[in-house]
Amino acid sequence: MPEQPGERPLGIFGGTFDPVHFGHLRLAEEAADSLDLAGIRWIPAGQPALREVPRVTAGQRLEMVRLATAGNPRFSVDAAEVEAARPSYSVPTLERLRQADACGRQRPLVLLLGADAFNGLPKWHRWQALFDLAHLAVAHRPGFAIDAGQLPTSLARCYHDRFCASPALLTESPAGRIVTFAMTQLAISATRIRALLASGGSARYLLPDTVLTYIRQHGLYPEY
Ligand code: ATP
Repeated sequence: MPEQPGERPLGIFGGTFDPVHFGHLRLAEEAADSLDLAGIRWIPAGQPALREVPRVTAGQRLEMVRLATAGNPRFSVDAAEVEAARPSYSVPTLERLRQADACGRQRPLVLLLGADAFNGLPKWHRWQALFDLAHLAVAHRPGFAIDAGQLPTSLARCYHDRFCASPALLTESPAGRIVTFAMTQLAISATRIRALLASGGSARYLLPDTVLTYIRQHGLYPEY
């Protein structure tokens, strides 16, 4: 991708996606609209760094993301972290995207996060380096407030210094700002979906039918 000043930002959406669900899809779709993103690159984690080992293989999580995002021209899927088969950390992932043969140094990149993930940011490997590489856009999520007064001190300071109210400013630099955006509030989590599937309950309408069919065909999430 060439380096062009003023180019519309590219959204980067990393996650475990174990499995991908409508909360993720609405977050990405509404971020694209609210923040005027050129597109969203979905990046399923290989081995997530900060959580227990997922119940299904990385390849299966990747395939479910491919099925869920198929047909949306704004969405693309990056398989590199899954293929690398090592723990996934956001800073090295963004450094990879900043290579000249990927997005380059100048294009604005916007890392998309739910509020729960943002609140836990100080636990991330080299988290302060994220701001040299991308902007952050934080989506409201049911049960998780974005409240500067409740954040860990280091993150509250960072939020205070970097917050900007206007998403239009994201085009003015490649990285370094924090924006928040409202999205349709969907209290859907992969944890709840796994529990439903394991107990024989219906997860229909919480995730795309194509993904649910894949889960059934491969006998995923038999126990919780
Ligand atoms: P789990 O329940 O296993 O922790 P999850 O549903 O939170 O999974 P992840 O793959 O961990 O899904 O999330 C990827 C990203 O999507 C995170 O930044 C998370 O905050 C965000 N996210 C997930 N579900 C929602 C939702 N319903 N609303 C807003 N953001 C969400």
